[in-house]
Amino acid sequence: MKKSSAGSNAVNTSERVGCTVADARSPHLLHVLHALQQQCLHISPDAVHAVAGQLDLPVSQVQSVVEFYSFFHQTPRGRYHLLFSNCTSCGDLSLMHLLGKHLGVAAGTTRADGLVSLDQTSCTGMCDFGASLLINGMPITRLDATVIAQIAGLISAETPLTDWPDAWFRVEDNIRSAGLLLNEDVAPGDALRAALARGEEGTLAEIKQSGLRGRGGAGFGTGLKWQFCREARGTAHYVVCNADEGEPGTFKDRILLHSYADTLFEGMTLCASVIGAKLGFLYLRGEYRYLLPQLQAVLSRRREQKLLGADILGKPGFAFDIEIVVGAGAYICGEESALIESLEGRRGIPRNRPPFPVTSGYLGLPTVVNNVETFVAAAGIALHGSDWLRTVGTAKSAGSKLLSVSGDCLRPGIYEYPFGVSVQQVLDDCGACEVQAVQIGGPSGSLIDPTEFNRKLCFEDLPTGGSFMVFNTGRDLLNIIVNFAHFFAHESCGFCTPCRVGTTLLKNGLDKIAAGHGTQYDLDEMQRMGALVKRRSHCGLGQTAANPILDGLQHFPQIFEQRLVNSMFEPDFNLDAALEEARRISHRDDAAAHLKSESQI
Ligand code: SF4
Repeated sequence: MKKSSAGSNAVNTSERVGCTVADARSPHLLHVLHALQQQCLHISPDAVHAVAGQLDLPVSQVQSVVEFYSFFHQTPRGRYHLLFSNCTSCGDLSLMHLLGKHLGVAAGTTRADGLVSLDQTSCTGMCDFGASLLINGMPITRLDATVIAQIAGLISAETPLTDWPDAWFRVEDNIRSAGLLLNEDVAPGDALRAALARGEEGTLAEIKQSGLRGRGGAGFGTGLKWQFCREARGTAHYVVCNADEGEPGTFKDRILLHSYADTLFEGMTLCASVIGAKLGFLYLRGEYRYLLPQLQAVLSRRREQKLLGADILGKPGFAFDIEIVVGAGAYICGEESALIESLEGRRGIPRNRPPFPVTSGYLGLPTVVNNVETFVAAAGIALHGSDWLRTVGTAKSAGSKLLSVSGDCLRPGIYEYPFGVSVQQVLDDCGACEVQAVQIGGPSGSLIDPTEFNRKLCFEDLPTGGSFMVFNTGRDLLNIIVNFAHFFAHESCGFCTPCRVGTTLLKNGLDKIAAGHGTQYDLDEMQRMGALVKRRSHCGLGQTAANPILDGLQHFPQIFEQRLVNSMFEPDFNLDAALEEARRISHRDDAAAHLKSESQI
């Protein structure tokens, strides 16, 4: 996980605002650090020591967390801190540079007066609205040059965000087609009452009978997972909702969290009743932090309605509550064991498995981790019974799937389909034409060409966590694959060598090819390295990081081959450039201090 740099000329904001850790009262390390950074605009070494003392943690643990997560900074950021998405669907970095020109600040730096800082981030989950950014954690969508000029004016005038145009911050659900899940209007408590009437075993049987499989993409049986956790021994059991969807091109959780939060919390609560949990966590991705106040309000109301807390719905002894923990810009925390590490206040490094979270999860105790869509579906099953889910879908993929459709189409947004829908059907519905390729399931999924558009989206054929990115013939597909390679190299947590080194070598190799310096040797090397990273990496990130490259080489070899203008081998490593520092130190920059190029020999 790499950190972006801030300008060396940044002012010491910490001293200027006199920041302390006294305002950060949450017991969760991530929350303390979020609060601190909001106040101080960075987390200084003194603050790290203070937090460690306050939470009784080793200084090294707090320091390593600050270094690991992209949203924490060790040098001061601007009072207006802007993060531009670099996603192929919701990113346009030319707008970041344009704003930098307006404001006199370079990307990746903080202006000398501490007013503003600019940087880039991975997908913000706003792919259906075009170019987007986060300003002090708040999303602004539909960016163009006009909006950028206006933003520059407002920042220069130091206008508070509360006085900026409301419309800029509006994030609609953008539901294009609703089905089983999105048409369901579960009144608070209804699914839970049905579950309690059925009893824990009856509810578990119903979930198993429905054939519900985890909607994150892997598709493990939800009922089976709950059963394993229920049967696991431990002093406590936990429910965790993985709302850390960070796969570029995915934004379905945004809609579910915004408009179906009650149903989600209902699903988590009935899971708690089945496995015997008293506490649950919603791990919210940092980019959706703006949803936090609303989610907290729903939880408060549910406590008042006796749908959380002690003796839920009047059932003696049925106690459960939910805490929300906000992530800090680490894609790897979408991996369930990395997420649990993060919940425990550590870097999001995936654990060895087995043991699996169902027996050894949060604090080493039995834990169910499901994603948002899975819990929402579980609430529907509890309310209507297992047949409800089976009314649509295929033999091995019961129910429906939410797709986040983005890219080159007329109608991007959220589409709900029965499992088994064809890729072509989705393309027709979203108004895509002259389609060159579709990325199914985000960069870690499958890149398919038009000969495969008759394939079905379901666990039997093309499984997907929900991202559906359309690329038409006008797009430079190699640039898309380069973008994905950079994403994985940036998001690799660095724990295991095949992924840490392999993703960087793949990125460098692709950059070389894209720049017109590649040869057939580089393509062969890419195949070999891609297979190695896939086979030898510790977790799903590394195991899927080479997918776009390998799929690209298989289905679209011409996009690589047409860049091979040079048949001579060129090394990846530029020795002459690497000697620049030596030349600087020795004050030599004459011709003899440079290596001769090929043509000069
Ligand atoms: Fe980290 Fe290894 Fe997983 Fe890559 S594959 S994210 S380095 S644990």
